[in-house]
Amino acid sequence: MTFQATVHQSAHSAGLATRHLQTLRRRDFLVGAALVDGRWVADRERTQVIDPATGEGIADVARCTAAEMEVAIAAAERAFPAWRELLPAKRGAVLRSWASLMLEHSEELAILVTSEQGKPLAEARQEIAYGAGFLEWFAAEGERAYGETIPSHKAGSLLQVRMQPIGVAAAITPWNFPIAMITRKAGAALAAGCPIVIKPAPETPLSALALARLGEQAGFPPGVLQVLVGDPIELSRPLLSDARIRALSFTGSTEVGRLLLRGAAENVKKVSLELGGHAPFLVFDDVDVRKAVGGAIAAKFATSGQDCLAANRIYVQRGIYGAFVEAFAETMAQLKVGHGLEPATDIGPMTKLSVAQKCRAQIDDATQRGARIFTSKNDTSLGGNFVLPTLLSEVTEDMRIAREETFGPVAAVLPFDSEEEVIARANANEMGLAGYVYTDSLRRALRLSEQIECGMIGVNTASFTGPPIPFGGWKQSGLGREGSRHGLTEYMELKYVCFGDLAV
Ligand code: NAD
Repeated sequence: MTFQATVHQSAHSAGLATRHLQTLRRRDFLVGAALVDGRWVADRERTQVIDPATGEGIADVARCTAAEMEVAIAAAERAFPAWRELLPAKRGAVLRSWASLMLEHSEELAILVTSEQGKPLAEARQEIAYGAGFLEWFAAEGERAYGETIPSHKAGSLLQVRMQPIGVAAAITPWNFPIAMITRKAGAALAAGCPIVIKPAPETPLSALALARLGEQAGFPPGVLQVLVGDPIELSRPLLSDARIRALSFTGSTEVGRLLLRGAAENVKKVSLELGGHAPFLVFDDVDVRKAVGGAIAAKFATSGQDCLAANRIYVQRGIYGAFVEAFAETMAQLKVGHGLEPATDIGPMTKLSVAQKCRAQIDDATQRGARIFTSKNDTSLGGNFVLPTLLSEVTEDMRIAREETFGPVAAVLPFDSEEEVIARANANEMGLAGYVYTDSLRRALRLSEQIECGMIGVNTASFTGPPIPFGGWKQSGLGREGSRHGLTEYMELKYVCFGDLAV
């Protein structure tokens, strides 16, 4: 079976991002200045921001140094006592105002996201709403940082557990969700009473710096919210070595997560890691194939496949395997590939060339080892960052795509026979972020949701994330949780207090 993906990258994609950026009313979103200790730092060496669809430079941003990171850490430390002492409702009011400003400027933020990250504009708009949702959630959650009173094991004493802000926090954020991964971390830290220093991915600094502009407008005092763009290794060094950074939150690759965990060990910092995924997507033969295909397409191709929740291994029970592959290929063929600012686009470019190259290497490896491929020939009019939606069937566990995360629009479908077998295969991997199960059997759904080794499972759904849920993984997919009431505790310390000698 073959199909032709619809490609609509047109000649006028050249300059498209620049033309959209020129329409922004908020010209300050394009100044490219870092926010350090309440000052906008712009006048220095600058780095270009690239539209990944066309390779064109679309803006430039100030490149901060390690010395400036030290200044930011000192400013955050100075800002900590007053921010911690503010009533949680007052901190929440600033967070809510930040969220409202995000929504007010949603269209402009979405244009920034698509221009530098590449995702379709409709998805960028969804990300702004999703990202603002974390600020609203944590604005309220900060008021519910309840402690405990423990029934005493000692006569005449009162035992309390309090929740207190940990101190200055740092966030190192990725390029796939350049807005939401900042607000999911910053919302929690700021609500808990911790100033935060943010180092965004160098590929997507404009979104992060625009958020900082809106944060300043919302009323965060100097030093409470800071954003510095620059070389990841140079800027993360002080974040690791400086003992004043008490909590470090990172989203990105497992490889860098390990490096940061090692670096944080010196000062025994509290570390939250949201790392890679390799989600198994299990489809049993009792389901409606069309529904399962709809779920698999959504779970595979959202964010052009650059999503840690992406369905990376789609296991389909043998009885419906052929029908599933056929329906998947048909639906996939409807996806339109092109510049994210073209209204019809479903699949944009990969933000980084290295991600596109990894996709191509996995496709080559799988086809050399006998997988069947459904795709059109790569269109040379598209830039090297584009990967056409591709379906690989008859995938086996020895292929690279079955063993490692793809992070692009390449779907691997593997047949299976029994429940026991597929559980073992789904769990035979060091990653454990998300999983999906499609079945009409309640008993099986309950068994599977218990036995799959991962932090999050969707049963008969491909969409489950949002502010109220504890987002995070098992095994090498990470440490800690973001969102939900658990997200707040990543930025808090427990303090046990024993009041003795109370007997009258
Ligand atoms: P990465 O881990 O290199 O980048 C993520 C963040 O870490 C960025 O802010 C980057 O500047 C920073 N960083 C990179 N090297 C660093 C270092 N030595 N010290 C400190 N900070 C550093 O990820 P990548 O290379 O951009 O992408 C590679 C793969 O990572 C992807 O294909 C995907 O598998 C995974 N990834 C996962 C997520 C996620 O949502 N969990 C996000 C992005 C990337």
